[in-house]
Amino acid sequence: MSNLIELKVPDIGGHSNVDVIEVFVKVGDTVAKDDSLITLETDKATMEVPAEAAGVVKEVRTAVGGKISEGDVIVVIDAAGVAAAANPAPAAAPAAAPAAVASQVAAPVATPAAATHSGTADIDCDVLVLGAGPGGYSAAFRAADLGLKVVLVERYATLGGVCLNVGCIPSKALLHNAAVIDEVKHLAANGIKFAAPEIDIDMLRGYKEKVIGKLTGGLAGMAKARKVQVVRGVGSFLDPHHLQVETTDGTGQDKTGAKQTIKFKNAIIAAGSRVVNLPFIPQDPRIVDSTGALELKAVPNKMLVIGGGIIGLEMGTVYSTLGARLDVVEMMDGLMQGPDRDLVKVWEKYNAHRFDNIMTGTKTVAVDAREDGIYVTFEGAKAPAEPQRYDLVLVAAGRAPNGKLIGAENAGVAVTDRGFIEVDKQQRTNVPHIYAIGDIVGQPMLAHKAVHEAHVAAENCAGGKSFFDARVIPGVAYTDPEVAWVGVTEESAKRDGIKIEKAVFPWAASGRAIANGRDEGFTKLIFDAETHQVIGGAIVGTHAGDMLGEICLAIEMGCDATDIGKTIHAHPTLGESIGMAAEVAHGSCTDLPPQRKK
Ligand code: FAD
Repeated sequence: MSNLIELKVPDIGGHSNVDVIEVFVKVGDTVAKDDSLITLETDKATMEVPAEAAGVVKEVRTAVGGKISEGDVIVVIDAAGVAAAANPAPAAAPAAAPAAVASQVAAPVATPAAATHSGTADIDCDVLVLGAGPGGYSAAFRAADLGLKVVLVERYATLGGVCLNVGCIPSKALLHNAAVIDEVKHLAANGIKFAAPEIDIDMLRGYKEKVIGKLTGGLAGMAKARKVQVVRGVGSFLDPHHLQVETTDGTGQDKTGAKQTIKFKNAIIAAGSRVVNLPFIPQDPRIVDSTGALELKAVPNKMLVIGGGIIGLEMGTVYSTLGARLDVVEMMDGLMQGPDRDLVKVWEKYNAHRFDNIMTGTKTVAVDAREDGIYVTFEGAKAPAEPQRYDLVLVAAGRAPNGKLIGAENAGVAVTDRGFIEVDKQQRTNVPHIYAIGDIVGQPMLAHKAVHEAHVAAENCAGGKSFFDARVIPGVAYTDPEVAWVGVTEESAKRDGIKIEKAVFPWAASGRAIANGRDEGFTKLIFDAETHQVIGGAIVGTHAGDMLGEICLAIEMGCDATDIGKTIHAHPTLGESIGMAAEVAHGSCTDLPPQRKK
């Protein structure tokens, strides 16, 4: 008797139409629960989708090069064929999966045999945290607050990881300046004219560094106040209870030759991710990744952004406002994948002036560094016939996890082929006293996700019973206007067959947006047509990201349109648009022309 089960794409943080870059299974394969089925690549991350049940693959409904969204069926399996194997008695299980099965499934996450460290240790602690990004420092601080003795290992001189040093914060410091320049320009239409800005790029870079310093310095102070011992160096596991740290010095990762061994009861791996480099791109100072772009060495005349995702478009915004003309190339058929297209259209219209050429559905196939510029050849829907010349090329093609760079195998921790560490809802790896959080565990690579996972892991180290059970993880493009979205989108609802009701409040009817001279945006709420609870929302407009939290809370609390609409929002605020969108949903909005009776 067969028992057919559809295995679907789980919550992938609101992304939709995501590229399938690997398919690990074919018809006839036997998959175990948690075996990887496919790898997805969004603008910020690659992620493997594990099987939620074991079975024999009967049908594969996706392929490399295809696009997929939350709820789409990946494979259909027959669970009956492996019913016995799905629940093996642990004691009777063989030490390793038979080689034939392992190779058929292509990328099962092998559990390595842990090493044994027989030497002594220099430091002893309750919790060892590896990596001091938003995940790592949050885990360390939470564990210390819960009374545990914590050691935090970081290879760089400052705490804060990618987010504070070369990610979220420096990009927003530059975007803030760009937004002010742009806003001042718009005032000309109101009769207030300023001269063209004089940009001292060294001072602007200095401002960005000051912002970073303030935050990373603050973290160092908070670590001290909590008696978290920070150990500087590159950490690598020796066994399931020991980590070796090779001491580093200076601002980078220069090794001093000194080593320390840390013994731990629990460990939290928060070693993050790194930029993905495209193999055919040569080394040249005029070709940068996001970290290089944030160094802001000069403003080019002509800049190419490879990858039309959030990071590329945010950095493109900064350089364009400072004077660069932009081209962008994106393999997918639209920029900024994730939010509904109606939001992206508003952003596109408002930003059309920045771009000479938006090449969607197009690939970069060759990059040639010549004396007079970087020549790039394209292929695809919007590829120019000739190679194009650029003064600066930003490669923003995604990030890869650091799972294979930390000696995880010595601790017995399983790492996927792509370098992710799989965890359960309590953030535990396959080794129960070792947890992993943040970019290294995949899903949306976002700082706020890392922080929430961090608290869960730290609380479990302290003997608690915490779970990562967020209903939604918001996403924001901090462009101008900002594009912010959370939960179910119209597009994902259509694909997943979820019956929804949507309500839109156009900012053309918002007193505050009109007063600000920025009424191009709108606020949209998505409700479940049966329960009438809000299950998604999106905002395009200035400060959209700052306002999204209310919709996230409403979704977590299971609010309906009345809950949101009857909550008094201050007038005139942009946030009021959320209340008014809810009023649109229940037909009581008096700030719009009369609604047609349903
Ligand atoms: P990381 O921040 O990557 O930190 C990992 C730390 O571990 C690093 O400090 C690293 O040095 C250290 N480490 C690694 N291996 C070792 C080792 N062996 N020994 C010692 N130390 C080690 N996210 C948002 O939510 N909002 C944004 O606006 C946003 N903007 C971004 C802009 C850019 C340009 C980029 C690149 C990223 C952005 N992100 C944003 C993503 C965000 O930065 C990451 O999701 C976040 O930093 C992940 O946190 P983490 O703690 O998992 O890892």
